Amino acid sequence: MSMIHFSVTALRKQLAAKEISPVEVVDALLARIEAIDPQVKAYLHVDAAAAREAAKSADVTRPLGGVPIAIKDVLNVKGDPCTCASKILKGYIAPYDATTIGKLRDAGAILLGRTNMDEFAMGSSTENSSWGSTRNPWSLAHIPGGSSGGSAAAVGAHEAFAALGSDTGGSIRQPAALCGCVGLKPTYGRVSRFGLVAFASSLDQIGPFTKTVEDAALLMNVLSGHDPLDNTSSRQQVPDLTARLTGDIKGMKLGVPKEYFIEGIDPQVDAAVKAAIAKYQELGAEIVEISLPHTEHAVAVYYILATAEASANLARFDGVRYGTRAEKPTGVLDMYGRTRAEGFGPEVKRRIILGTYVLSSGYADAYYKHAQKVQELIRQDFHKAFEKVDAILTPTSPTAAFKAGERTASPLQMYLADIFTIAVNLAGVCGISLPCGFTMPEGDTPRLPIGLQIIGPNWGEETILRAGHAYEQSTGWHKELPPI
Ligand code: GLN
Repeated sequence: MSMIHFSVTALRKQLAAKEISPVEVVDALLARIEAIDPQVKAYLHVDAAAAREAAKSADVTRPLGGVPIAIKDVLNVKGDPCTCASKILKGYIAPYDATTIGKLRDAGAILLGRTNMDEFAMGSSTENSSWGSTRNPWSLAHIPGGSSGGSAAAVGAHEAFAALGSDTGGSIRQPAALCGCVGLKPTYGRVSRFGLVAFASSLDQIGPFTKTVEDAALLMNVLSGHDPLDNTSSRQQVPDLTARLTGDIKGMKLGVPKEYFIEGIDPQVDAAVKAAIAKYQELGAEIVEISLPHTEHAVAVYYILATAEASANLARFDGVRYGTRAEKPTGVLDMYGRTRAEGFGPEVKRRIILGTYVLSSGYADAYYKHAQKVQELIRQDFHKAFEKVDAILTPTSPTAAFKAGERTASPLQMYLADIFTIAVNLAGVCGISLPCGFTMPEGDTPRLPIGLQIIGPNWGEETILRAGHAYEQSTGWHKELPPI
């Protein structure tokens, strides 16, 4: 194990004891990126000079002092390009820092570079990026998940100690599961969205990718809290999330929803998650069978609500204010039309068209308003469940990573990759994915990571982190290193 494999927690100890210096850490990571990123392609842009400069004056006494972190290309970092992996934002330079970026800077983190993603965070494989796809560090023939696939691959491949992503329907948890790392989607309102390029504003949350659950708690301590610049950010008190990671979960009530163990789930995923549930029982948790009866409608509801919001949010990219503009327009309408036709990729166009349709007069009642009603039922499912249990255990994704190109011809197949993560966003509650095993190698496919999802109630980050940490400490999955 070398320095690049450290968790943030272990790295901080070494930095504080002056066993290593921030400059050595940055150099080691830049060398790692240079060696393997031409194959993994997690990064769109590496800020080598700025990272080296920041390392020289890093204050290691701060919560993330001297810790290099990668940022999904959907967050504004002052002075950096921010393209959302879309041609339409080519040339756009962020004029300000997102609140989460400011918080990382205040905590002393070193911003290492920008990670690849599905265009405007729409996708589950990072194959919708305009700048080429990212690969899974456990198998370069496989996808890393999405839409935050670059962030997941960077952490999974030990090309960053941690990363930020965004999650609207699973975009942190699903790629974390597929790349063998930890990913947390906070309760809606826990983390400020200011400076995040909006996809579906009522569902979007920013969250961390890390190598361990303890690191996720550490990052959440830094990222959480009220922000006057985001009027959906909450004034809820933020507890110290690292303080209660005791490893003791005796008496914790964990729900297992029958709707999440369905036909179509990969038998190896099913077995790994069931083994994790048995482990929880061994650790002293009480396992309770529960029902979330409206689960089957989640994907349909999401593709109405998320596309409706996206069609409105993406209206601002018209060639006037941001990024590129079509050349030699004959008039303003030609300029709008061609800028959008040339700038957006096919999946983004599909979503804008779908979203515009479900909001159009005559259809809004049948689709959009109806979907909102079903969303409320999904929300109530969770609230009722959390009257009985402290947290809920499910698979994060129905399968391990799939091969690149395997699902690109079928949008529906791609949408189903998020079947277990989407309801969490619709309900607004929090969820974490952590490693819980591997598939068996088969033919030319090596063993691939499997993720366990732990869902908590509103402001239940402390509970899911405590549950995740206890499991992690009693298993060794997070210590496994990818072959690359
Ligand atoms: N994969 C889902 C989608 O394509 C979720 C994306 C996300 O969470 N940003 O919309």
